[in-house]
Amino acid sequence: MTTSGTELIEIDGQAGGGQLLRTALALSLATGQGFHLHHIRAQRPKDGLMRQHLCCVLAAQALCGAKVTGAVLRSGELTFIPGVLLPRDVSFDIGSGGSTVLLMQALSCPLARAATGPCTLTVRGGTFCPMAPCFDFLRLTLQPCLRQMGYQLEFVEDTPAFFTTGGGQLRCLISGPLRKRRFEHLSYAAIRTLRAVILNINLDSDIVRRMTATLRQNFAGLEIEVKTRYPIAGVGNALLFYLEDESGAQQVFSCIGRPVLRAESLAQSVCDEVHGYLKAQVPVETHLSDQLLVPLTLSGGGSFFMAKISAHFESCAAVIKRFTGKAVSCVAHDGHYLVNVKATDEYEHKKEQCDV
Ligand code: ATP
Repeated sequence: MTTSGTELIEIDGQAGGGQLLRTALALSLATGQGFHLHHIRAQRPKDGLMRQHLCCVLAAQALCGAKVTGAVLRSGELTFIPGVLLPRDVSFDIGSGGSTVLLMQALSCPLARAATGPCTLTVRGGTFCPMAPCFDFLRLTLQPCLRQMGYQLEFVEDTPAFFTTGGGQLRCLISGPLRKRRFEHLSYAAIRTLRAVILNINLDSDIVRRMTATLRQNFAGLEIEVKTRYPIAGVGNALLFYLEDESGAQQVFSCIGRPVLRAESLAQSVCDEVHGYLKAQVPVETHLSDQLLVPLTLSGGGSFFMAKISAHFESCAAVIKRFTGKAVSCVAHDGHYLVNVKATDEYEHKKEQCDV
């Protein structure tokens, strides 16, 4: 597609959800290439741009003065033609309890990559949201990886908030320019500690009893902390499960309660993810795998082992190929996958050779 003489990268959005859109926005901001995304989240029950996705588009637009069409709620089509990304202090409000963590995850690396000095990205919305990373995942699992790639940033949670109420606030404090470094996560370090935190705010204590029972059936002797008082408004619950390995690295698994989800099912879903991770003995957990791809592409590249190829991983990798012309290589190796992401200092535009 061409808009006023500008060649746009054509992307079919039905292969993925919000992560596909956020990947395109992050790469567009960083590379200066425009895109046309159609069939946005077409396979999701409520398709098109939801509030959290729309906020991400408008935030990316504000960061670089992009020319945008289709940026309205429930839109199924978007064109985004970026201007120059100018790093500065910026603040965005999702206007609902949508995930601040996902917005941070998408915009922090392009901003930190362009930064020449300190600047701050502030986002308001929800911090405990279903189907999204919790803040501790961002701070304890993703942030150390980003720093190893050379991003000089720190995530701070000023106000936690459930997705049902919103009003939470996160900040990303960027302290200086990216110092590109190759990232390698190839060996698995033995797990030293496991502990769980149950957050149960203004809800029946029976929920805690049932979650605890499920946790104990899965991990006898597990250290479990229950928090019924927390500086958070409204009603809600969550289970956070922390694994620390011998190198000090932390994996955070979480599930946020919602009305249709039974306490036992919530706890079991987290236990299943932890069992899967412990069994696979790979350094990079499945949720983390797709979230590393854009930061690696924009920094010094790198490689890691993961257990399986998720749909999020596939759609992120496909979008990266469209923007950079370089494939994320993923090779089966001893029952696992060895992933290699190329650093892309010079973007080669080989769009015509690539299919999403
Ligand atoms: P959609 O409604 O279309 O699914 P979305 O904006 O909610 O859109 P997804 O496309 O599903 O987003 O992407 C969710 C992102 O959150 C992915 O990167 C996924 O790996 C990550 N994620 C989901 N659950 C967790 C979790 N429990 N811990 C860490 N990361 C998570």
